[in-house]
Amino acid sequence: MKRFALLSFVAIAALAQPVAPHPDQNLNGTLWMQTSAEYAALTTQAYRAAGLALSAALADPNWTAAYEQTNDFRGLPPAVILDLDETVLDNSAQQVNLIRNGKAFTEEGFTAWVKEARALAIPGAVQFLHQAQLKGVAPHYISNRICNPADPDDPTAKVLKDLRIPYSPDRLHCKTAGSNKTDRRKAVAQKYRILLLIGDDFNDFTAVPDNVAERAKLQAFYEPMWGTKWFVMPNPIYGSWERSVGFDLGKKFEALRP
Ligand SMILES: [Mg+2]
Repeated sequence: MKRFALLSFVAIAALAQPVAPHPDQNLNGTLWMQTSAEYAALTTQAYRAAGLALSAALADPNWTAAYEQTNDFRGLPPAVILDLDETVLDNSAQQVNLIRNGKAFTEEGFTAWVKEARALAIPGAVQFLHQAQLKGVAPHYISNRICNPADPDDPTAKVLKDLRIPYSPDRLHCKTAGSNKTDRRKAVAQKYRILLLIGDDFNDFTAVPDNVAERAKLQAFYEPMWGTKWFVMPNPIYGSWERSVGFDLGKKFEALRP
């Protein structure tokens, strides 16, 4: 009887422990992106809403979506700014490679994937970009990929062209010194009136700190922007949100809200 009680105690103690993490933290997120109808419906929904906002933005010369736009922009030609990875381009196949091989994300691994130039288009993106182009709105891509639009063989330019995505070298703004996109938004704002910002990471809209509480406050502060001038794509796999929590599993468990 004593032994049974001891075993029960051990069993209960085991149940009280945090559930062992899945072998790969990105399995569910990757599967959701690749297999759920809901993921494709969400991105399509966001791009369709962005398309509707585009018409309102074009008609209003006082409209800008960028806080970096501090010049007199009313006479400037219109542009939209989009991030690339997990906004226009679907890199989930690279995640599959990492999951299947038990590997962690590295910059080198990502660069090798970029060179393969086989990312797919996020559902809704190509239609939206064609719609923008037909309305005379220039799509600008601000990406933290290491790319070189001056190189005719650049793999990012190649993948955009292969996917029939409106592209010209002067509209691809790759990672320069750092990953902060503010200066690149500012540079586009000098020459264009920025109608919309589209991205999968808070930093695609404005520079935010890597701190969960601060980001929650800023999210609430920018509430009027979401779905009017700023459109967010879902990304359950990675982003500055994860850096804000911390990559350590213990920190992730701590951050869970009971
Ligand atoms: Mg992205």
